[in-house]
Amino acid sequence: MMEKELICVNCPMSCRLTVQIEENKVVSVSGNSCPRGKAYAETECIRPERILTTTVRITGGIHRVLPVISESEIPLDRIMDAMELIRSAQVKAPVQVGDVIMENILGTGVNIVAARSMDKFSCSDTSQK
Ligand code: SF4
Repeated sequence: MMEKELICVNCPMSCRLTVQIEENKVVSVSGNSCPRGKAYAETECIRPERILTTTVRITGGIHRVLPVISESEIPLDRIMDAMELIRSAQVKAPVQVGDVIMENILGTGVNIVAARSMDKFSCSDTSQK
């Protein structure tokens, strides 16, 4: 049996969790003040997940990169592959916040969406008065 200590990050209470793991299964969680802590411990110990935030190259926009975010958590062990895929992509302005930039990334069922809107670049953007 293995024991792991975690801090639950689901709310500001930051409960200290103690997790007992046996044969890659969580057999007990203590220290949690609500069921979300137990669910967090189970996911974090067996298959951790993270929200992915990064940028993608954009053409024709007022900036050269567009901030993007995953619509929900993706497995932590897929993050680097997902980053690689996003790094190789390029989108075209204009983009609205929430637009799907990459659908079902790496077959995870999670979309990568624009974290902000970005207008097309126009010549008046560089005019100096
Ligand atoms: S276990 Fe519940 S109360 Fe404690 S930090 Fe997690 S979400 Fe908050």
